[in-house]
Amino acid sequence: MTPRRSPTTPEVPVPDPLRHKVLLDEDEMPTHWYNLLADLPVPPPPPLHPGTGEPVGPDDLTPLFPMDLIAQELSTERYVAIPEEVRDVYRLWRPSPLFRAHRLEKALGTPARIYYKYEGVSPAGSHKPNTAVPQAYYNAKAGVRKLTTETGAGQWGTSLAFACAQFGLECEIWQVRASYDSKPYRKVMMETFGGTVHPSPSDLTQAGRDVLATRPDSPGSLGLAISEAVEVAAQDPTVNYALGSVLNHVLLHQTVIGEEALLQLAKVDETVDLIVGCTGGGSNFGGLTFPFLREKLARGSGPVIRAVEPASCPSLTQGTYAYDFGDVAGMTPLLKMHTLGHDFVPDPIHAGGLRYHGMSPLISHLYDQGHLEAVAKTQQDCFAAGVLFARTEGIVPAPEPTHALAAAVDEALACKESGEEKVILTALCGHGHLDLPAYEAYLRGDLVDHTWDDTELQQSVAAALERLPAIPG
Ligand SMILES: *Cc1c(COP(=O)(O)O)cnc(C)c1O
Repeated sequence: MTPRRSPTTPEVPVPDPLRHKVLLDEDEMPTHWYNLLADLPVPPPPPLHPGTGEPVGPDDLTPLFPMDLIAQELSTERYVAIPEEVRDVYRLWRPSPLFRAHRLEKALGTPARIYYKYEGVSPAGSHKPNTAVPQAYYNAKAGVRKLTTETGAGQWGTSLAFACAQFGLECEIWQVRASYDSKPYRKVMMETFGGTVHPSPSDLTQAGRDVLATRPDSPGSLGLAISEAVEVAAQDPTVNYALGSVLNHVLLHQTVIGEEALLQLAKVDETVDLIVGCTGGGSNFGGLTFPFLREKLARGSGPVIRAVEPASCPSLTQGTYAYDFGDVAGMTPLLKMHTLGHDFVPDPIHAGGLRYHGMSPLISHLYDQGHLEAVAKTQQDCFAAGVLFARTEGIVPAPEPTHALAAAVDEALACKESGEEKVILTALCGHGHLDLPAYEAYLRGDLVDHTWDDTELQQSVAAALERLPAIPG
């Protein structure tokens, strides 16, 4: 039967529409997270106990984390089943769409094909709920009453507040002062989800009071906010701490991004040549790339994988690969990672989520072993790419993924020179609807790349690296 033609149907033949997005059905959502540790030819150096210098065991972590998460942190099982309760919350926004950036490609005049996995569709507007939800779930299951945490740009705090609301947990958040002042709506969002928010440094903890005593106007840092949240959790057995990046179990949870992207690219019969992702602590980058790395390790060939970091907080490209604390006050286990020194305070750039002195030990190990490349980008280049992306693709990206976009644009322009039809994949790991003041500053021409000049940065890093902890024993 031919349906009757409606009078409004145009008579002129229209060209086949370009395929802008690749979608998965809800029942195609991954059932397991992928643990890269199972497939690494060389295992990463273990976290060490700062008192003994011995590798940390599960018991060292119980003051902060529930057993299920500790088991995942130390696990070498290849696949970890996603609990049904977690999949049920994931279904609010997952599977997330994969987009082909036709309009960006056209604006660049590139033969490259650019795909982006869009995580801004989540309740918090970023990839972070992918791990916040399971972390809240396992803590609630263990009978914990409250979670404490830090937040930089406010994305992680928002995600954890949302996740805690799903499982009846309280949530207390230390937000880095610089972002507390510049992003007031993030606080409202955390409070709307039921969280309590303090600026960091605060006078509620010893770590905060110590900093305020010497520097009352401190803009704070992620490392310091972590110290405050850890201090409060460690003192109360009914309170645990949750970290939004860096640790193995966080990267594990984020692999839903890459697993879905693999399925989506298979649907359109594409093979990726280059993956670019922004790296703060490494979780969206690891989540996107690890499933691709699994295929690459198994086949012996695969995409180039490139991490993109801010020029003002360049832990991979300018840091040292050494054991360091994850926080300022030195309360966490010693992690072997690319670090700028645990008390390095970066310039207050707008991509608050990338202002972390260290890097995931897993990502650091991969970089050390030559599985990854890394580049650093200035704030100006990143916002230029973000604005171009907004004007072509219609999504205002968070400042963090503009780093990845700037690197994708570089590659696409190189393809224009060489004529290569590379397939580029990135994670658009969040939207920038609460980052509009930063865009306003950029559009007004007020956005200073107040990155220190290279010498100042190097001096500041060198000074912080002199205070790296000694390994006992
Ligand atoms: C937190 C955040 C980041 C940085 O964290 P990673 O662990 O490196 O992913 C990047 N982008 C967005 C949107 C974030 O919220």
